Amino acid sequence: MIDWIDATCELPDGVRAGYTTRLGGASEGAYLSANMATHVGDVDADVRENRRRLLQITGLADIRWLKQVHGSSVAKVEPHVDPVDEQGSASVADAQWTDSIGIGLAILSADCFPVVIADARGSIVGIAHCGWRGAVCGVLESLVAAMRCRSASLNAWMGPGICKRCYEVGPDVVARLDARISKNVLVAGPRRERWFLDLPGYLEILLQELGIERIFGSPSCTYQDENLYSYRRGKVTGRVATIVWRETPCTSDPPNQVFASCVPATTL
Ligand SMILES: [Zn+2]
Repeated sequence: MIDWIDATCELPDGVRAGYTTRLGGASEGAYLSANMATHVGDVDADVRENRRRLLQITGLADIRWLKQVHGSSVAKVEPHVDPVDEQGSASVADAQWTDSIGIGLAILSADCFPVVIADARGSIVGIAHCGWRGAVCGVLESLVAAMRCRSASLNAWMGPGICKRCYEVGPDVVARLDARISKNVLVAGPRRERWFLDLPGYLEILLQELGIERIFGSPSCTYQDENLYSYRRGKVTGRVATIVWRETPCTSDPPNQVFASCVPATTL
């Protein structure tokens, strides 16, 4: 059985989120055992089996995966009209959102942060893949803009990623960060030309600047917790999946109305 950790923050009614760990899957070797990624060199049949078990444990019939590229593209997810091949249907994007019920939105990660966003009424959910590259190229801004909700109505939850004590970066990364933000989240390390980056702190500032007030985190550090995958700990490794979905309708759902509880950002 796939190990599943529910988000501990207060998500809106009818919205569920959580993440998998390394435990309970079929993969072997460096991918042991619940690797959810098809692009990391693992045996395809094992990943398919892991994803099948994930459907089982979440009770979902449909989970959407992305081809993640550390960019800022956002995919809108709607129910399939016809049965589609899982890989064939994956969009090249690093964020996705939906207002449909019963579709799981997945982000794969191993040190980067999955960031879940939902409006307070639970009528719309989104998720983004945020390493420092995604943060710098604006994936969170793009996702929030695509969801077209009033920012103050949004909740954000960051899943497992690498913590500020473990994420050492060099001048190449530091030079690319937004200095206005990074001055608050970079600490010089003991080694020359090395800093520790508080990536969740950086993301939190970005979310706050987008007007999101309710921001929650996960206590797990992927680098320290051996039950999670960490790209820093081993370059050949698997990925955990963080999933968000609308489980049940919310009271404000009128029939066939897409942006029931949201107003276009342009009217703010
Ligand atoms: Zn750590």
